[in-house]
Amino acid sequence: MLKGKTALVTGGSRGIGRAICLALAKRGADVALVYAGNEAAAQTTLGMLMEYGVAAKAYRCDVADFAATEKLVADVCADFGGLDILINNAGATRDKLVMRMSETDFDDIIAVDLKGAFNLIRHVSGVFVKKRTGRIVNVTSVAGIMGNPGQANYASAKAGLIGLTKTVAKELGGRGITCNAIAPGFIKTDMTAALNAQLLENALQIIPVKRLGEPEDVAEAVAFLCTDGAKYITGQVIQVDGGLRM
Ligand code: NAP
Repeated sequence: MLKGKTALVTGGSRGIGRAICLALAKRGADVALVYAGNEAAAQTTLGMLMEYGVAAKAYRCDVADFAATEKLVADVCADFGGLDILINNAGATRDKLVMRMSETDFDDIIAVDLKGAFNLIRHVSGVFVKKRTGRIVNVTSVAGIMGNPGQANYASAKAGLIGLTKTVAKELGGRGITCNAIAPGFIKTDMTAALNAQLLENALQIIPVKRLGEPEDVAEAVAFLCTDGAKYITGQVIQVDGGLRM
């Protein structure tokens, strides 16, 4: 279904990003995965990708660094002979109540979770426009839709990502490029493992399907948006949250 396509997945070393890499590879896509510093996790994902018989390579790159992401896109295009799909999944949190949040706590999370996606979109857009085709999926969060106490930085970044998604969809829609966002709820990864047990217990009470999500639940929706069947869907925010927010 995605044979002959190359996907660049940021934050592909662990959690939701790893599941996205595997869901795309399962459909035949070659995968360039980006990680921040966890070399062992990146190698584990690469090993799992090899089992699908696709081409795969890991790139260490801070998505917040504009110049580094420009080089990254050039390297991926050279290594794979092109690029068709961009998944902006890399993300980080630094939770604090707004009264205690420092300027760097705010700026650093905006830089990774929002500017990081802009950086990649900025650099791949020329490649996609030239080919008059391309798929972009941004991983936002229900926190960006509902707000969340303790996450002024993260929720702002994720809300910004929705504005970015809709703007890019409007700017590039006429060039055969779609841009959508996926908004996960509570998904079982290292990110949610850091949350306190009581908070997760409270969340379970208000999730209609009565379980936390698996990374694969998110990955399947992302992969669908990259297939031909989704070619008329753009500018959308699709929630994968077990009904948490409706
Ligand atoms: P995770 O397990 O904490 O993994 C984060 C990934 O992002 C890792 O691959 C990490 O690389 C990479 N990363 C972090 N900062 C980076 C940077 N500056 N440059 C490049 N890569 C960077 O997170 P997750 O739970 O899978 O979340 C994935 C995405 O889903 C995030 O955007 C997150 O905000 C969003 N999301 C998650 C949930 C949830 O419940 N888990 C809910 C809503 C939205 P290393 O491995 O090298 O550190």
